Amino acid sequence: MHEMSVTESMLGVVLRHAQRNRAGKVTAINMVLGEFSTVMPESVQFYFDIISKDTIAEGADLNFRRTKLIAKCETCGDEFEVVEYDFTCPGCKGEKSEIISGREFQVESIEIS
Ligand SMILES: [Zn+2]
Repeated sequence: MHEMSVTESMLGVVLRHAQRNRAGKVTAINMVLGEFSTVMPESVQFYFDIISKDTIAEGADLNFRRTKLIAKCETCGDEFEVVEYDFTCPGCKGEKSEIISGREFQVESIEIS
């Protein structure tokens, strides 16, 4: 039920924004989804169709922009793109790194009419 709750909070954000802008209808929702996020776009779409019923966001297009997995090396501070789950720093070959981007799931913008 993970996607159910993230979709609910996503819709909450969208509706708050739409109300603040006095929107009559939400036509599209643009989201950022990290490559490493466990959120499945298909599931978000599935739950969205159910819970957006009878709201002004009903029928809105859901667009997902995937972001790359970026890690920061704890040894030398380099930021690098993680390819195929290889977290080895390309600069110093250090193996201790922290994910700084790629796990997010958030609303980037909405389109209203
Ligand atoms: Zn390094």
